Amino acid sequence: MKSFRKELWFETPNRMDLINITREVEQALLESGINEGLCLVNAMHITASVFINDDEAGLHQDYQDWLEQLAPHEPLSRYRHNKTGEDNGDAHLKRQIMGREVVVAITEGHLDLGPWEQVFYGEFDGKRRKRVLVKIIGG
Ligand code: ZN
Repeated sequence: MKSFRKELWFETPNRMDLINITREVEQALLESGINEGLCLVNAMHITASVFINDDEAGLHQDYQDWLEQLAPHEPLSRYRHNKTGEDNGDAHLKRQIMGREVVVAITEGHLDLGPWEQVFYGEFDGKRRKRVLVKIIGG
């Protein structure tokens, strides 16, 4: 069995951004040389997510509106976590509901995704360098 590890780095311009990273994950898979196996993709930060869904602009705005209704960024005093001096209490909650990681099957050297499935990085406390881990195992 082979294994392959790669970090993808991001620095988003906004506090909240959703980025399609399917091409970057496919590129990592190509570099791994693995044809059959599993690919784990996870955010390495507790205020960011990796998830799979449709690459559709209306849906992405719906996610952002929904998350902001569930856990508005302001007022900062709403969150006990912000009493630590941080301002990202909302981002921890947004990350939790959007998930930490995805696992995708690898078949014949490609991500075995459903017809509309795409892999996304969800950033909820952006404007700084953060990373995603891609770990691929198989043969
Ligand atoms: Zn925090």
